[in-house]
Amino acid sequence: MPQNQGDLKFLTSFYHCKSFNEFEFKKNQLITVKGGKIVSIQEASGDIDSDTVVIPGFMIPGFIDTHIHSPQYVFTGTGYDLGLLEWLQKYTFPKECQFDDLKHTRNVYEKVVSKTLKNGTTCASYYATIHPHSSLELARICVEKGQRGFIGKVNMDRNSPDYYTETTESSLRDTREFVKNVLGLESDLVVPCITPRFVPTCTSELMLGLAAIAKEFNLPIQSHLSENKNEISWVQQLHPESETYSHVYYDHGLLNKNTIMAHCIHLEPKERELLREQQVGISHCPNSNFCLHSGVMNVRRLVQEGFEKIGLGTDCAGGYSPSLMDSMRQALIASKVIHIESRNETAKEQFDALHYYHVFYLATLGSAKVLNLDHKLGNFEVGKEFDALVIDMSGIDLFDHDDEYTRFEKFIYLGDDRHIKQVYVQGKQVI
Ligand SMILES: [Zn+2]
Repeated sequence: MPQNQGDLKFLTSFYHCKSFNEFEFKKNQLITVKGGKIVSIQEASGDIDSDTVVIPGFMIPGFIDTHIHSPQYVFTGTGYDLGLLEWLQKYTFPKECQFDDLKHTRNVYEKVVSKTLKNGTTCASYYATIHPHSSLELARICVEKGQRGFIGKVNMDRNSPDYYTETTESSLRDTREFVKNVLGLESDLVVPCITPRFVPTCTSELMLGLAAIAKEFNLPIQSHLSENKNEISWVQQLHPESETYSHVYYDHGLLNKNTIMAHCIHLEPKERELLREQQVGISHCPNSNFCLHSGVMNVRRLVQEGFEKIGLGTDCAGGYSPSLMDSMRQALIASKVIHIESRNETAKEQFDALHYYHVFYLATLGSAKVLNLDHKLGNFEVGKEFDALVIDMSGIDLFDHDDEYTRFEKFIYLGDDRHIKQVYVQGKQVI
């Protein structure tokens, strides 16, 4: 067995992506990991050292969830009768407000981190609640359980219920304190993330103040954009001075290469141009988009227009599954809906559906790009950190005609947490 934590040697086959269209299968590779990083990948030949771990199935890079709400886990799988704005009022805010209780927080957040790790999520961009101490607790739990996390204390100082709101001043003060406390954990697994919930719940003053904090500490920013048509009209009413919804974030200093925007379903061409210019990362959350009747995002169009930073988000509890395996399948279905609609006689443009390896890219390297972590995560390359899943196909029937590629396609369409046998983050086995 390995002597030092994070020092490992594996004999394994693996699948990964090098870009949206470059999917690769490598057979019988010797992967050496030191200090949590991949130091060499070689074709195995000759005798194998006794300290080499032989993987009977195959490995893939860890999944990265670019958008998930940890407090909403308590009602995941319920309440999909409403659209976004009504859903927030009826289901979300009453549940989120309960997270001022640290005991409740720990109970729920331990379950969220364990469940997502078990499903292969080695890194997640989390929204917590408006409560700074309970948001900090999420960071602590990620560190304890060994999951990477962008941790967001949510901000909302307008159009929020009386029982779940902040003043502009307290929101900014608490965010600053939260940022310092997360940085004070001195863990390279967790990063504080500036998290204005979305434009309707944040005043201009708050958005400007949050942009200043993000700049001061060089932090990622996450929010929601263009999810639902009623939401878009509401933003237009609130900010007639800005050209579009996207421009509201831009005009308040919140749209740049460190920004992750979830949904982005109904963007106008000039918004897409702005997001591309600003190198914003886009989190595609298809399960949520179906469940809250928001719409269907067109990944192909964004790729054709030159977007590179597109990844997947489960958006629990807008989406009902905390698993990126589900997100991949929902992204496939969403792309098929776009494809079917684009065959209508009245359609102006045609779009092909995505393939299984495209959604695998979105869940791994694409998501790493969204979080600006592709220099260290997302695939198996020398110098990158070793975040990996060991996959065992037991229970998924294979036949004589199956090859390496159909085997993997079956895993994408039919796999779940039962097939994820081990999970490594930074070279450390966490499941
Ligand atoms: Zn969300």
